[in-house]
Amino acid sequence: MEIDEAREVRTTCPYCGVGCGVLAKVAADGQVSVRGDPDHPANFGRLCSKGSALAETTGLDGRLLHPQIHGRGSSWDEALDLVGSTFSQTIAEHGPDAVAFYVSGQLLTEDYYVANKLMKGFVGSANIDTNSRLCMASSVAGHRRAFGSDTVPGTYEDLELSDLVVLVGSNLAWCHPVLYQRIAAAREKRPEMKVVLVDPRRTMTSDIADMHLAIAPDGDVALFTGLLAWLGQHNALDRAYITAHTSGFGQALFAASALDLAGVAAATGLSEDELGRFYSLFARTEKTVTVYSQGVNQSSQGTDKVNAIINCHLATGRIGKPGAGPFSVTGQPNAMGGREVGGMANMLAAHMEIENPEHRERVQRFWNAPAIAGKPGLKAVDMFKAVADGRIKALWIMATNPVDSMPDAGAVEAAIKACPFVVVSDVLAETDTVRHAHVRLPATAWGEKDGTVTNSERRISRQRAFLPVPGEARPDWWIIAEVARRMGFDGAFAHETPAEIFAEHAGLSAFENDGERDFDIGAYAGVDEEDYDALQPFQWPAPSPGTPLWPAGHLPPHKGGDRMLSRPSPIFNVARQAPAPKQLISPLAGEMAGRPEGGVQARHPPQAGGTTGHQSTRFFANGNFYTPDRKARFIAIRPTVETRITSDFPLILNTGRIRDHWHTMTRTGKSPRLSQHIAEPFVEIHPVDAQRHGIGDADIARVSTPRGEVLVRALVTTRQRQGSLFAPMHWTDQFAARARLDTLTASLTDPVSGQPALKHVAASIEKF
Ligand code: SF4
Repeated sequence: MEIDEAREVRTTCPYCGVGCGVLAKVAADGQVSVRGDPDHPANFGRLCSKGSALAETTGLDGRLLHPQIHGRGSSWDEALDLVGSTFSQTIAEHGPDAVAFYVSGQLLTEDYYVANKLMKGFVGSANIDTNSRLCMASSVAGHRRAFGSDTVPGTYEDLELSDLVVLVGSNLAWCHPVLYQRIAAAREKRPEMKVVLVDPRRTMTSDIADMHLAIAPDGDVALFTGLLAWLGQHNALDRAYITAHTSGFGQALFAASALDLAGVAAATGLSEDELGRFYSLFARTEKTVTVYSQGVNQSSQGTDKVNAIINCHLATGRIGKPGAGPFSVTGQPNAMGGREVGGMANMLAAHMEIENPEHRERVQRFWNAPAIAGKPGLKAVDMFKAVADGRIKALWIMATNPVDSMPDAGAVEAAIKACPFVVVSDVLAETDTVRHAHVRLPATAWGEKDGTVTNSERRISRQRAFLPVPGEARPDWWIIAEVARRMGFDGAFAHETPAEIFAEHAGLSAFENDGERDFDIGAYAGVDEEDYDALQPFQWPAPSPGTPLWPAGHLPPHKGGDRMLSRPSPIFNVARQAPAPKQLISPLAGEMAGRPEGGVQARHPPQAGGTTGHQSTRFFANGNFYTPDRKARFIAIRPTVETRITSDFPLILNTGRIRDHWHTMTRTGKSPRLSQHIAEPFVEIHPVDAQRHGIGDADIARVSTPRGEVLVRALVTTRQRQGSLFAPMHWTDQFAARARLDTLTASLTDPVSGQPALKHVAASIEKF
């Protein structure tokens, strides 16, 4: 690929779910530089520390550049033949559920689409799950229970338009920094805007909070069921909305009333005064957005927490309106794209349901597939248990490092080591997971690959290549398609470019979809290479022109809202059946990355509306949910109080992220600048607990759980809640001795979503 050094390439940050636009450039001396894209509607030119340091992470040191079999170099043909034949043989001997893919929110939508298509439609199993299971599965489950679909109702703009932002289990300042900056900027313009932080820790996010509720771990269900009961008792309900657009309110209110205010105070660790002030503020502030993240999702009650929050918004009619709604912020750059293609064990492509026979038949027909998974597959935690007990005999891990990031990581490592056949596609030659692979497949990295990602507000953006492809690295979608061909599924995987895959994905979203499903980007089903190359960020839904998104008799949401539900112009040859074959362009030739921007932008002028001037869509302004009766469902939730502490493990360990590192540091660990912020693993402990356990500030502490121990630096601080510890998840043995935090966490999961409870682990601490 030839580099046009004068040209900045418009791409997207590969870290968090904010999905910031990035302008990247390569100078004549090969030096990479990046800056925020001023025209991207997620960030308008802003970048956080991680995004700003992206250029430091694009070097080739440590890269996997050639395929390997059992540690020796091989040709692509040899490696792909071995993977294809071993998977085929395993399926023939043991059935389709004897194989599995464990994929990643780091994959681009096109990669995800092809992996899901191969497993669900051609292998005939749903054993494909993702590290996004660790990130937002409880939000997916909560959305589907309440709305009948996995729909994020609002937009980032709603955070700026609101009069009250309630941040629950979210250290936005460090984990979604640009979104935090947008709220901070809005608050500066409108000082009357209030922010409430609900978090056991007083994190950096508390800097913009008018009120910090230092809630007990897993006290969120009690807090929000208590709020629902309080709204009922104080005549603060929107009864007209409840009657017109919801079902199940009576049962939900009855269940929520199980605790009186004193009971809620006991369950949450908050005072009745704090509760009263928060409840009263919520009740009187019409424009309220409740933002929630991993502190809500990563819980054994994650789905109930999500629904307890949504219940309060339904009860006040605060959903689908400017400046109002529940808002799930995803951790990963493409967790949303993965959901859209069905890259989870309990979903089908295009937000169709695996349990629905009509949906299964429809997807199978669209793909012209020989099979279709008949039941949900194994979710991440259960998948690795099945690897451990031998039910899964061939495993393909793509773009993720479960040996460090899965709960009970020691057991996961043992399972992978014992698995008869392990394939890992990765950009690095030696992660803790890659080293256990029988076959290592070199994937292209950020800056080298092309595709799309979807951010937390349903905005689809392009990631574009601006660097030459090193060695023999290949895009993930290409690797998967080549294996599929070797398994005998030639025609259906004759993809030559990501544009073709995106067009097929868009075609499936619109296929026999007359408003039955929320995810519809049918307007892009006829996209060609040029259009795809020039694709501007857009929010879904973007249905095919002339297609009613909502069935007859139901008003589309924009009719009642004060802003348009913007739709793309009818520019494409819209295919509501399988898309026609496209002009083929080799992705490895880098031709697409060299094209000038502009085509689609010129044909899709930004829509009027809102403060940004960009297309901005929200769902449910006039109700019309995706349930059979088109009403949102209240979920009856009884507040329960859980604790897992014992006399041997008397503290609750909460795990999370820091500002300048990402996941297991395979990328951010390359940047000296990012390592300056916090240079070593640590544990936060309250001074009272520190004294009780003989820990001094900066001591090396041993943190233990029944599964293992780590050695980390103690940080004694009143920001930490008494009785709790906090430690970041990032460090692995590569960066610090005995610091793999997820060797401590448990494989306990939420019973509905299957998401692990990574925020509530019983632990002990002592001076080392
Ligand atoms: Fe990247 Fe997230 Fe930072 Fe934006 S906020 S630059 S998407 S890490």
